[in-house]
Amino acid sequence: MSTPLDPIDDERNAADQPRHDWTRAQAEALYDLPFADLIFRSQSIHRRNFDPNRVEIASLLSIKTGGCPEDCGYCSQSAHYRTGVKATRLMDISAVVQTARRARDAGASRFCMAAAWRNPKDRDLDQVCAMVSAVKDLGMETCATLGMLSEDQARRLQEAGLDFYNHNVDTSPEFYGQIITTRTMQDRIETLGFARKAGLKVCCGGIVGLGETIDDRLGMLMLLANLEAHPESVPINMWNEVDGVPVNNTAERPDPISLVRVIAVARIMMPGSVVRLSAGRQYMTDELQALCFVAGANSIFIGDVLLTTKNPQTSRDASLLDRLGIASKLDSVSAKVQIADEAAVKAAV
Ligand code: SF4
Repeated sequence: MSTPLDPIDDERNAADQPRHDWTRAQAEALYDLPFADLIFRSQSIHRRNFDPNRVEIASLLSIKTGGCPEDCGYCSQSAHYRTGVKATRLMDISAVVQTARRARDAGASRFCMAAAWRNPKDRDLDQVCAMVSAVKDLGMETCATLGMLSEDQARRLQEAGLDFYNHNVDTSPEFYGQIITTRTMQDRIETLGFARKAGLKVCCGGIVGLGETIDDRLGMLMLLANLEAHPESVPINMWNEVDGVPVNNTAERPDPISLVRVIAVARIMMPGSVVRLSAGRQYMTDELQALCFVAGANSIFIGDVLLTTKNPQTSRDASLLDRLGIASKLDSVSAKVQIADEAAVKAAV
């Protein structure tokens, strides 16, 4: 039986049995391991489950920007705050498909479509389903993030060819109420359940740097790892600075070593999940990103813009992956990606 002094529970983890019974004491014991021990363990688990020299490349497009009725305290797209982001209508299918094709040709294997809604209206969902089918026909994995879903909407998206549904828990259950008041954590869990029930894979993670404590970071990882099934993708975002949002009053960029520890604990707790180093990479040095990959991160978004915030230039990503010997098509096609990035940005605004 696991104890706080036996955080890894080597027998069970040697077999990489997915566990859903992580305790706070175990999460803390992992996080507090000497850095070299923690990274050795997370890298060992990573190697048993993934090619350590491969990083998934995904592309994200805002198909409907701004004007969101939710009050997520970090978000430039919330209608509650004056952030300078202009609300747009749902994009045309042809523009979405064109952007997806360019992203695919440039090396992205997954295409994520994001809309700033509390939940999709049924007439909007018809259009999103058509987009999903068209992107799927390009041979890409499809992902959507559209807010809360009903059971029926999740089923319709799955039937249209959606592979993943993204719906983040954002932070720990304890800190959540300080960041969002217009929907509850339970609402989120319910949508995740509908996505699962419909046969969709789940992309679910959160944000560090909102002003939460280390305990909150671990609480968020425990929440994810103790779900009935681990999310297939776990995006770990570092808060992107945005003018005009309330989180500015509490936000604090995390100590880089804490970020690496969070990634390592995520890898250990959810050994089969793809852990995405998501928003906030423009604030990270190449060395920090490299450490995150060693700790178990194995996915990034490419493109100069992530929804409404900046992302590293693709040429920088290509150079970093190349210097790390990480297999990706980016190094040979970075120039093409730059062109795709510009097209995506133009299409999104
Ligand atoms: S639901 Fe999404 S788009 Fe809307 S405010 Fe929250 S994070 Fe922003």
